[in-house]
Amino acid sequence: MSTAVDVVVIGAGPAGLSAALNLVRARREVVLIDGGRPRNAATLASHGFLSRDGISPLELRKLGREEVAAYPGATVVDRVPVTAVERDGDVLIVRAQPRGGEAVEWRAGAVVIATGLTEVMPSLPSLRAFYGTALHSCMACDGYEYADRPIALIGETDDLAEQALLLSSWSRDLIVFTNAVGVVSAADEERLAALGVRVERRAVADIAGDRSGMTGVQLADGEVIARDGGFLRPRYATGLEYLQALAPETDAGGLLVVDAEGRTAVPGLYAAGDATPPGPQQLIVAAGAGARTASAVHRDLLRAALDG
Ligand SMILES: Cc1cc2nc3c(=O)[nH]c(=O)nc-3n(C[C@H](O)[C@H](O)[C@H](O)COP(=O)(O)OP(=O)(O)OC[C@H]3O[C@@H](n4cnc5c(N)ncnc54)[C@H](O)[C@@H]3O)c2cc1C
Repeated sequence: MSTAVDVVVIGAGPAGLSAALNLVRARREVVLIDGGRPRNAATLASHGFLSRDGISPLELRKLGREEVAAYPGATVVDRVPVTAVERDGDVLIVRAQPRGGEAVEWRAGAVVIATGLTEVMPSLPSLRAFYGTALHSCMACDGYEYADRPIALIGETDDLAEQALLLSSWSRDLIVFTNAVGVVSAADEERLAALGVRVERRAVADIAGDRSGMTGVQLADGEVIARDGGFLRPRYATGLEYLQALAPETDAGGLLVVDAEGRTAVPGLYAAGDATPPGPQQLIVAAGAGARTASAVHRDLLRAALDG
């Protein structure tokens, strides 16, 4: 089955929803397609989105989907992952595979990539059980709830000192766990110590806690260091293998390189949100980028129609 539309938006997080909303309002025929695996579903409350502070992330997406779907130009396809985007002359073909169903495809003059990121966490057995409730990855989103509480920063990256400095603005009762991998220089450790922040370089075995919540960080030697909760410093993956045929430019972190309005260098291919530099940000930033990209898509399609 192949359907022609003006634009396909891939990913229905805030970036894709906002792009789709603005495009249907510009009277474009738009397909908004999502694989149904939102990264922030782990959390119960999203913070910092103006007028929606504290809303559940799934509720925010549901409200957005309903707003988009209410327009006659919109087709919203949920829980169907896109498997490939290919070129056929001026047209881009988006292929998707419904679970247990027949493959589908759309042909469009423009495609907006808004598929965000996935996290690669330190490998600790109970980490996922506490992720989103006691352990978080975005300080700007969840730091406020941990003000002055005993917290951990756990990571294996080489920017832990910078992250710890930022986190200390919410709580100085902070211990940085490197899991014997993350890098904190002796000079940075001294600077952090002056703020009251300790660096723990021993290997971490697990997160300690039970159904009532996280109680600490368990080290490989058996010691448990009491902590209420804290922040992880994940690595990120983009999952953009489905764009292989178009080979868009990516930066060192695998993020899609775009101009100030969301255009990649591949004609007709645009991107917005966490899948673009600098990577993981916030809901409202992704939504803003989606709206800005929608405007570029609409203007480019108008120009192409005049020229063509
Ligand atoms: C646990 C957690 C808590 C957070 N809390 C907050 C908060 O409180 N406040 C805040 O402002 N920000 C928060 N964030 C950050 C925020 O969620 C992201 O910055 C934002 O969602 C990025 O939006 P996006 O649209 O770029 O990508 P996403 O929201 O990640 O959406 C991408 C979508 O693309 C879909 N997708 C992926 N691959 C495919 C494919 N091949 N085919 C079809 N669809 C696909 C996914 O299913 C997903 O729905 C949090 C993030 C996490 C992980």
